[in-house]
Amino acid sequence: MTTQLQEIDPCPSCEGTRFQLLFTKKERDFWRCCGCGVERQYPLPTNEQLEQYYSRHYESGRLASMVEEQEMIRVRAERRVREVRPHLPPGRWLDVGCSSGAFVRAARGDGIDARGIELAAPAVANAQASGLPVEQSRIEDHQPDQPYDGVTAFDVIEHVQDPVSFVKNAERLLLPSGKLALTVPNLASVTCRLMGKRWYFYIPDGHLYYFDPRTLRALLEAHGFGVERIVAIPKAMTPRYTLGQLQQLNPLLAKLVHPIVQIMPDSIANMAVPVYVGEILAISRRAALSPRGSA
Ligand SMILES: [Zn+2]
Repeated sequence: MTTQLQEIDPCPSCEGTRFQLLFTKKERDFWRCCGCGVERQYPLPTNEQLEQYYSRHYESGRLASMVEEQEMIRVRAERRVREVRPHLPPGRWLDVGCSSGAFVRAARGDGIDARGIELAAPAVANAQASGLPVEQSRIEDHQPDQPYDGVTAFDVIEHVQDPVSFVKNAERLLLPSGKLALTVPNLASVTCRLMGKRWYFYIPDGHLYYFDPRTLRALLEAHGFGVERIVAIPKAMTPRYTLGQLQQLNPLLAKLVHPIVQIMPDSIANMAVPVYVGEILAISRRAALSPRGSA
């Protein structure tokens, strides 16, 4: 295969415009920045394609899910609170892309005045029905009456059309002493290196941008943050849920795992255990004198 290079929209981490075509998956092209290694889908899906993707995602997935899966989501959220709680100032937190509010609920249970914003209407309705302070909003449109001590965004910025705008808005929403916690799939993870283009995080229309610790740090530092730590972080998953995800994202691997899950007793197949799927957690503080790039 010949190397295909092209000038496209600037990279969110280094502002470079020269990209190399990596592969095409379900008619979507995946590119790598020649300057820093950020990967992205380009052209970005249209709003209509994104709406289709997310309505499919919600119909087939989480919201219509089983009791066992709800339990897994609760365990995952409580674990996530324990992971970020020591690094973020207590007080008021905003969880961006909070889905049905599991993290908001878990943080509130731990004494944090947490609230959430989310785009998917069914998820917002779910959260509100259980009494959680969750609004339907993009980060760009969110106008709180006072800034936050903490902003969290788990598995979110890889989905957004403009990660730079996302980071700038996170900074806008924080107190000067505030901190940001976010997780993303990690291009430098073992799972990515082993699986290549079959990596389950390469999701057409779903994940639009991909970072590694270096490029995530560059993105944050270019737009008002000082990075305090970036660490690999596990996700609580049950074997049965993992199999369901693989069947959608990587059928080949699912075929290998299926017989193993089949012979497990229910108590094991539905047990949420931490798995290093290839994600990183970044904790950043608002930088006192932030270099704001060339803007
Ligand atoms: Zn770049």
